[in-house]
Amino acid sequence: MTQVIELTGVTKRYDSGGTPALGPLDLGVAQGEALAVTGPSGSGKSTLLNLVAGLDKPTEGAVTVAGQRIDRLSEHELARFRRARIGMVFQFFNLLDDLTVTDNIQLPAQLTGTARRKTAARATELMELLGIARHAHVYPGQLSGGERQRVAVARALVNRPALLLADEPTGALDTASGHDVRELLVDLHRGGQTVVLVTHDMTLAEACASRTIQLVDGHLTLDSCAEPVR
Ligand code: ADP
Ligand code: MG
Repeated sequence: MTQVIELTGVTKRYDSGGTPALGPLDLGVAQGEALAVTGPSGSGKSTLLNLVAGLDKPTEGAVTVAGQRIDRLSEHELARFRRARIGMVFQFFNLLDDLTVTDNIQLPAQLTGTARRKTAARATELMELLGIARHAHVYPGQLSGGERQRVAVARALVNRPALLLADEPTGALDTASGHDVRELLVDLHRGGQTVVLVTHDMTLAEACASRTIQLVDGHLTLDSCAEPVR
């Protein structure tokens, strides 16, 4: 099975000398998997996600994503890799407030140089799929949290990423909107999207994920798909 993520001997230290915030860690995520990363606050969940997204580099070890060894890329190469291959969704949406919904969604496609017509068609398709087509020309500030997160998901998917990363995507939402975004992630996984979801919400993990891992103090303490130890 094709691995979308392959971490080998990965360690991340923010201060030299101290105990690592993450690792040493070996982890593979197969294409089509929906992996939930759980664990208490400060256990290294965001650190792991940032390494996979190429937003940060490991202190030791190799990070391969979508067939590309990313821990040795330059910042410029990383930015290009991220735009083309990875979609990210954050707790607080990170939308650009002075761009309309459509423009927010189209931005990553424009940055990768996709043809204007193709980009517009993809954005329309996603807005319909995610139930936000009626908001196409409004600004994020006019939308509810749940609607904004849908826009953020559409933006994350516009370049058909090999990997969708979500860090506490329901963390800032009320229960109903959280439920909405949960259903959306379930649908995306059913459609074959590889997803890594960071959450301390076990209900969300159980609903969305085909596999759950738990981190405690930067170490893997549980993997629902691990081979039994012999
Ligand atoms: P989680 O997302 O599970 O709450 P994090 O990955 O954010 O955990 O943090 C793991 C550990 O690394 C924590 O002890 C945190 O304080 C530390 N840490 C995270 N980011 C930084 C940073 N940029 N600089 C220094 N320490 C950090
Ligand atoms: Mg975090």
